[in-house]
Formats: sequence, structure tokens, C-alpha cells
Amino acid sequence: MLKCPNCHNKTITNFTKLKVGPVHSIKCPNCKEDLTVPMITALYNFIHYFIVIFCSVRFNMSISILLLFCLIATLVHIFIYIKFIPLTLEEN
Ligand SMILES: [Zn+2]
Repeated sequence: MLKCPNCHNKTITNFTKLKVGPVHSIKCPNCKEDLTVPMITALYNFIHYFIVIFCSVRFNMSISILLLFCLIATLVHIFIYIKFIPLTLEEN
């Protein structure tokens, strides 16, 4: 569970956080405040795929290796997104 930046209670599940984006907010179940993630996160959401595509072109990977790298990149992305991208209050 993750802490709400407003009421500081552990009310947000890891799965719920995955549904939050820079343009899609969620409400804290406790304080009903709108929560979002910083706009810079939109860039982060795609950068690991650019790295995989760059490596596939640079090192001439086979499609099976490329798909494996995409899977690993997605798992790493989910881990970093949950652990290191902060939830913030939505500015109105
Ligand atoms: Zn809250």
C-alpha cells in the first residue's frame, strides 16, 4: 500500500497507482482528494521502449530476443513506476 500525499494514510494499492497517469487522476478513498503523477512521467512512460528499439536496431536482435527485452523493460517499468514516481495532489 502507498501513502496518500494529502492525508498520509496508506490507502492506495500498487495496482491502483498503475492506473494513474499525468492526465488521469484517482481519488483517495480516505480524504477524497484527487491524486495524479507529475507531467514528466508521461516522458518516462515511453523512454524504456525507445531504449529497447534503439538496442534492437543497433545490435540487430532477433524478434524473440526483442520481445523478451520488451517484457523485461515492461516489468522494470512497472517496478520503477510504483516505487519511485511520486503521487501528487492534482492542481485545479
Ligand atoms: Zn488521502
